Amino acid sequence: MPTTTLDNKEIFRDSVATISKEGKRNYINPKKPKGRLYNLRTRFSIFYLLVFFSLPFIKVNDEPLLMFNVLERKFIIFGMVFWPQDFFIFGIGMLTFIVFVILFTVIFGRIFCGWACPQTIFMEMVFRKIEYWIDGDSAQQKLLRKMPWNGEKIRKRVIKFVAFFSISFIIANFFLAYLISMDQLIQDISHPSEHIGTLISLLGFSCVFFFVYWWFREQVCIVVCPYGRLQGVLLDKNSIVVAYDHKRGEPRGKLTKENNFKVKDDHDCKCTDCKGDGGCKDVVQKLEAIGQPVALPVHGDCIDCAACVKVCPTGIDIRNGTQLECVNCTACIDACNAIMTSIHKPEGLIRYASDNSIKNGVKLTFNRRIKAYTIVLSLLIILLVTLLVTRTDLDARLMRTAGMTYTAMPDGRVANLYNLKLANKTHKDIPIHLKLENIAGEISLVNSVNPVVKKEDYKALQFFVKLNRADLKSWKTPLVIGLYDSTKKIKTITAKFIGPEIYN
Ligand code: SF4
Ligand code: SF4
Repeated sequence: MPTTTLDNKEIFRDSVATISKEGKRNYINPKKPKGRLYNLRTRFSIFYLLVFFSLPFIKVNDEPLLMFNVLERKFIIFGMVFWPQDFFIFGIGMLTFIVFVILFTVIFGRIFCGWACPQTIFMEMVFRKIEYWIDGDSAQQKLLRKMPWNGEKIRKRVIKFVAFFSISFIIANFFLAYLISMDQLIQDISHPSEHIGTLISLLGFSCVFFFVYWWFREQVCIVVCPYGRLQGVLLDKNSIVVAYDHKRGEPRGKLTKENNFKVKDDHDCKCTDCKGDGGCKDVVQKLEAIGQPVALPVHGDCIDCAACVKVCPTGIDIRNGTQLECVNCTACIDACNAIMTSIHKPEGLIRYASDNSIKNGVKLTFNRRIKAYTIVLSLLIILLVTLLVTRTDLDARLMRTAGMTYTAMPDGRVANLYNLKLANKTHKDIPIHLKLENIAGEISLVNSVNPVVKKEDYKALQFFVKLNRADLKSWKTPLVIGLYDSTKKIKTITAKFIGPEIYN
């Protein structure tokens, strides 16, 4: 009986491979993967790690290329500084990213998890490789685990501990550099006594990474990662995932002389009496004895060697169908391809494919769900680009001073007092000049001459607008004020000027 996703008996879904019946942790020691996809992933991960460890050193206009300073609520993405005032843009950006991830997952499944997720890259391409190097392959690792604490075990565990903790410490440094910038990190480390907080964070992050890669491992993907847990609602039967071709593989059977016989007259066998265990010879004899037509069962291409299970880092059997635990690491594809080659069968019994393509031979189509996501994503991208293009370098909020109406001046003019709050989002200082654009009058700053808004800083200004009574046409006169730097106009702001009631 095939054990595919649509099989009625999905008992395998009642348990998790990494948890024993007693509720204890089943530690997975996957066999070292080998093959074309593993080599490709290794090369990709080298490139990935180079980028990960280089980005914090790259600067644009003397600022980091990327920075996610949550504490100071300051984010720099590809040199663009985002402040709390830009939260709306940031929110739309996050929403766009989430819809992109959903659309990507609907079509390509968990390809991100296998190829680009930092957890998989560090676990499988860094820590696991070191583990193979120190402890040996799966069988030796299991032996070592069961071994009493002798010289060899202590030596290997100490080397592994030092290696794992050192790498966790390095990752923690770079992780922190993405949060507070590499310059700040170096400065903090150079003066440790003044920056105890940074040192505590470093140690904390190092311990978390060490715990994850030493012990917690695949549990991150299975029980913690929200993206992994959302797969159940994101994937559909047309999503491309790492899948076992049960039509080709079943009924599986060990590769023995008995099991490897061919179908008589090229008939597909409909008989399930043998349960795929190769016991069909008896059935055939029985059928022949009572004169029934006989079609010998064809055993599928799966020889039940379990090579695909042994390499799986989450300990599952992909032949049971798509499962939440599968991180699409492709190790089982490589393992099965090697087996298929050795028994002279075509590769691809386990491959990237959709459930629909395996069952019905249907290719991926631009279905309604994909169309809907694409439309939403396109609209969000248009909105995001518009917001980014129209985003100004200087944020200005102008308000009349609370509790005041107008002041009648001795020279006959009328004055209003305003408060202006400025935020400079750029990497350079901006000198500010204010100019009345729609009416003759004077702007006089309070306690400030030639104000400058420092880079990435705020400035509060207070100023009077003084107008001739003759120019006031109503008790509320609209004002247009231009904000200029030394060379050009940066922004236009508007306000209301309050005058005496008599001018209504
Ligand atoms: S590696 Fe291939 S042949 Fe072996 S059990 Fe897995 S699916 Fe079957
Ligand atoms: S079944 Fe296991 S080995 Fe295969 S892709 Fe999924 S996680 Fe990797």
